[in-house]
Amino acid sequence: KIYYDSDADLSLLRDKQIVFLGFGNQGAAQAQNLRDSGIMNDKILIANRADSYAKDAQSKGFIVEHDFEKAAIVADILFLLIPDQVQPNIFNEKFAPNLKPTATIVIASGYNVFFKRLSFSPQQDVVMVAPRMIGSSVRSLYQKGKGYPCFVSVEQDGTGSGLSIALALSRAIGATKAGAIASSAYEETAMDLLAEQALWPNIIMLFREAFSVLKEAGCSDEALCYEMWMSKEPAEIFERAAEDGFIGQLKHHSTVSQYGQLNGALALDGEPARAHFKDILYNQILNGKFAEHLSKIEPDLEKDGLQNPLNQLYAKAEETELVQAEKRVRGRLADLLQ
Ligand code: NDP
Repeated sequence: KIYYDSDADLSLLRDKQIVFLGFGNQGAAQAQNLRDSGIMNDKILIANRADSYAKDAQSKGFIVEHDFEKAAIVADILFLLIPDQVQPNIFNEKFAPNLKPTATIVIASGYNVFFKRLSFSPQQDVVMVAPRMIGSSVRSLYQKGKGYPCFVSVEQDGTGSGLSIALALSRAIGATKAGAIASSAYEETAMDLLAEQALWPNIIMLFREAFSVLKEAGCSDEALCYEMWMSKEPAEIFERAAEDGFIGQLKHHSTVSQYGQLNGALALDGEPARAHFKDILYNQILNGKFAEHLSKIEPDLEKDGLQNPLNQLYAKAEETELVQAEKRVRGRLADLLQ
């Protein structure tokens, strides 16, 4: 099911006090789109600690509240637009105890709802309005009068009006212009995390190994880096895939390339990858193992240097031949440009 502007009634938002928790990537874009869709400025409140994000919101003419409890008390609708890993603490401690019993909570990612990390009252609506775009594109496409892909769902229909409110909000942030897709926190989480934890890791591994084999075969760092990604050819291939089809885009390549790619892809046994993806999906993602692991290391992710497990992974990745070669190439390029 795809929802368009004609499915959404903006008048449902009249007189509602809308609070944005967070004015970052998504918060800044969505709040501005909402205001440009006719929601009065005094009906929009930005909840943010007193720092550069708050100043940015003020400079754009928004009313800002630094006290989260005060923001929670007035909210009819709360957009939860702070990073996923900090949402449970802030929401459960500062917002949940102070929100109206029939408030609508809007999430932009399924993660915390699917893994039941947020506490809601039974009469509250919990809806997902999740743009499939970075915030700057959410804003620039809206300004150009275009839509963008977005997932919509009702995760808890406390008032019975969850879907109508979700669609009105989707329209107000510009998400129903090109059609908002009916989805769910489960679907969004499964797809997002499988891509992050299995698909892209495999792509990174394949690039790393192809790099290594070609390097051993005598190819230079420069030729490899440019051939494989610095020319932006992979970005162009994905752009074409979005426009002309995943396989249809092959027609833009030479006959030698088309034949090689299709012949190679169809000859590969997909079973090992399929088994690996299933293992990650069922035994790491959907059973909550990854979420549990992440919640344990969350405090460490705020630390500096090698005490932070993410920095440890970056340090390990730095040691690979591909990253070392790229560093040399970028260093030589910088010297040339001086
Ligand atoms: P950002 O990283 O841009 O969020 C920054 C905002 O969060 C700032 O207002 C910041 O204010 C606030 N913030 C950060 N840490 C804290 C904290 N500990 N306590 C209170 N406020 C905090 O987030 P995104 O916009 O990227 O993501 C928001 C939601 O949107 C997430 O659920 C994400 O999954 C989803 N999403 C993101 C997309 C993207 O492109 N980035 C795409 C689609 C969905 P300050 O530091 O001043 O407190």
